[in-house]
Amino acid sequence: MPNSVSFIPVNEPLLDGNEQRYLAQCIETGWISSEGPFVDRFEKAMAERVGRRHAVAVTNGTAALEAAVAALGLGPGDEVILPAFTIISCAAAVVRAGATPVLVDSDPLTWNMDVTQLASRITPRTRAIMPVHIYGLPVDMEPVMALAERHGLAVIEDAAEAIGQTCTGRPCGGIGHLGVFSFYPNKHVTTGEGGMIVTDDPALAECCRSLRNLCFQPARRFVHETLGWNLRMTNMQAALGVAQLERLDEFLERKRRMGALYTRLLRGVPGLQLPLGNTAYADNDYWVFGVLLDEGLTLTAEEAARRLHQLGIGTRPFFWPMHEQPVFTRMGLFQGERHPHAERLARRGFYLPSGVALREEHIERAAKALVSILP
Ligand SMILES: *Cc1c(COP(=O)(O)O)cnc(C)c1O
Repeated sequence: MPNSVSFIPVNEPLLDGNEQRYLAQCIETGWISSEGPFVDRFEKAMAERVGRRHAVAVTNGTAALEAAVAALGLGPGDEVILPAFTIISCAAAVVRAGATPVLVDSDPLTWNMDVTQLASRITPRTRAIMPVHIYGLPVDMEPVMALAERHGLAVIEDAAEAIGQTCTGRPCGGIGHLGVFSFYPNKHVTTGEGGMIVTDDPALAECCRSLRNLCFQPARRFVHETLGWNLRMTNMQAALGVAQLERLDEFLERKRRMGALYTRLLRGVPGLQLPLGNTAYADNDYWVFGVLLDEGLTLTAEEAARRLHQLGIGTRPFFWPMHEQPVFTRMGLFQGERHPHAERLARRGFYLPSGVALREEHIERAAKALVSILP
């Protein structure tokens, strides 16, 4: 860690609203398990925020994806189309269910799945599409939903990085048949660990509720027809979620201001590709502020991160693409596949400090440090 100036972490949550007060209520009332009023309140508030009828709170976003895949009954022989460039959780949920992930490369500018490639990946076995909103700029959902409708496919919309974001005016996570959120501390709303599934379909919602709770049956509790998990969120986590959700719009505004400042400070710097500020269907909310080093530079993202760390700036590498994951290639998946844009993002990209607690001077320091390490 560097000498006198403080280290700027890549993320730090803001917990200075009603978080402490609501948590204290959990302790005072004794409602610390998944029973208790905050879980219901958090589910209702999220459902309302994204315009869906049902919401099911779970232990994390990864679990939410697994429950969504299970609720759709996906399994061996079924194919699910998803981006090559995403977190492992998406493909892992498909693989764990015994289904087959089918990858789509990224759009080089939005860094989201290239929706123009979707149609070519559809086969008679395709059952679902899993679009993932990346880094605060959403996937263009309209063509995804149109294609899904035409082919009778389900859409699991991973909106973990797009809480409060919209796509053509519709709330992200509230567009697909199932929407999935994470409340990890770097997300726009955090519960420490946590996740949620939203849907308008009462049967899918009921199925997710049952899967969350070991598939206990109302009539004969300890007799099981299906295997579920214990994915229950605690009242204490939900208490944090309710308090955080009260401030979502403020958080989004902060992120957009931060993104605008980074953009102003870094625009035109040779060798850097910055995130798109907007597309025809959405304005970036800069969940994280990612940068890409030009392929002409000898400086790699890894080396840049090391040097920024020395200057007191925390960073994170971009995702590593699914077709280059040893765990998947060893299973025989994605043999010989190339997704050049996803590969470039992984090798040339990283993100700068982006937490909602950052102040302007932190952003100025981070931007200046980045410029200083470029040739
Ligand atoms: C964070 C994240 C997840 C996983 O959520 P966890 O709560 O960390 O399990 C899934 N998908 C995306 C796109 C994410 O960013």
